[in-house]
Amino acid sequence: MNIHEYQAKQLFRSYGIPAPEGRPAASAQEADRAARELDGAGWVVKAQVHAGGRGKAGGVKLVKRVEDVAAVSRDLLGSRLVTHQTDSAGLPVQKLLIEKTYPIKRELYLSLIVDRGSERMTFIVSAAGGMDIEAVAHESPEKILSIAIHPAAGLQANQCRRCAYALGLKGEQIKALAGIMQGMYRLFLEKDASQIEINPLIETEAGELLALDAKINFDDNAVAAHPDILALRDHEQEDARENKAQQYGLNYITLDGTIGCMVNGAGLAMATMDLVKLKGGRPANFLDVGGGTNVEKVCEAFKLILSDGNVKAVLVNIFGGIVQCDIIASGILAAIKQVHVAVPVVVRLEGTNAEQGRALLNSTGLNLYAADDLTHAAEQVVALAEAAA
Ligand code: ADP
Ligand code: MG
Repeated sequence: MNIHEYQAKQLFRSYGIPAPEGRPAASAQEADRAARELDGAGWVVKAQVHAGGRGKAGGVKLVKRVEDVAAVSRDLLGSRLVTHQTDSAGLPVQKLLIEKTYPIKRELYLSLIVDRGSERMTFIVSAAGGMDIEAVAHESPEKILSIAIHPAAGLQANQCRRCAYALGLKGEQIKALAGIMQGMYRLFLEKDASQIEINPLIETEAGELLALDAKINFDDNAVAAHPDILALRDHEQEDARENKAQQYGLNYITLDGTIGCMVNGAGLAMATMDLVKLKGGRPANFLDVGGGTNVEKVCEAFKLILSDGNVKAVLVNIFGGIVQCDIIASGILAAIKQVHVAVPVVVRLEGTNAEQGRALLNSTGLNLYAADDLTHAAEQVVALAEAAA
């Protein structure tokens, strides 16, 4: 789960991580009032969306005169921001963060992630902050230092000092960085985060360290245990279909192709998508309907897939291991009638009672094709989608 920058900065402050003074605002008047309360030498108006890369996309505006804050805010509010981290539709801007500007001497990078390779929480630091860290990693990996934390020993003072030296920090700054790193480490563990990123962490002209940007992701499997974090959720920033899927216990991810996929089992779903691609098609979604599939779930799954206007054909791939294929076939038929599926549907059933299942599907006269193997099914659905496009 993702939260907004202004929420992340509030959490930062409660863990002793210094962040700029700022106020959230949902209207131009609120933004105006916030800027006047903050009395600085300049202000920055920041679009609050669940994506980075806002600066380059026009979502972070520096304002010199306080009377301009309202106009800049009015332009941003209600728009959709497209950055290199969003899709082409972008994300809605419904909230802003108004902050004082700070004279920046250097922009640094500091993040804490779980490194799956070493199975340890790992700090990533670089003096090349402010830009895309992926690009730095690609072009000049020597500019990045990673420090893995031993789970029993915890974050050590000497590890913080190593990071400080790598960032070229001196004197009091070394202690300040250690404080920031300890805060991040505690926050990460106590709130079950999966990633905390400060890009940029700035050194001001006065030599202070400040988290100018803040990004925190939380582990979806743990967030139910943290009602305070769950309360920060912003559904407007999330994919509506993915939210709906969650309600029905379906594991769904929107993609940008034309072939809807309905599969039981995540691994089988991945294999199905691979095969669709291999045959020249593009999946419109990932969808795992789970092991205990029933008619209601199949119906909801069809509704989800068909609510995507790009879908030209659907491929259903069910392995009858726990469930029986004839029961699934009747479920599919009931769902197709209930949901009024207008696009062609290719169904591949395999496993217990597969033949009975196929016979049921073949006897309907609907726009339905029962395939007996997955390769044929993939070829068929790609051809049908192309014919419909
Ligand atoms: P994003 O990563 O989404 O582009 P950031 O919060 O990192 O957004 O902001 C982009 C850039 O805007 C920063 O690298 C920094 O140069 C500038 N900036 C952001 N907030 C401030 C601020 N309070 N004072 C001065 N400059 C800022
Ligand atoms: Mg940033």
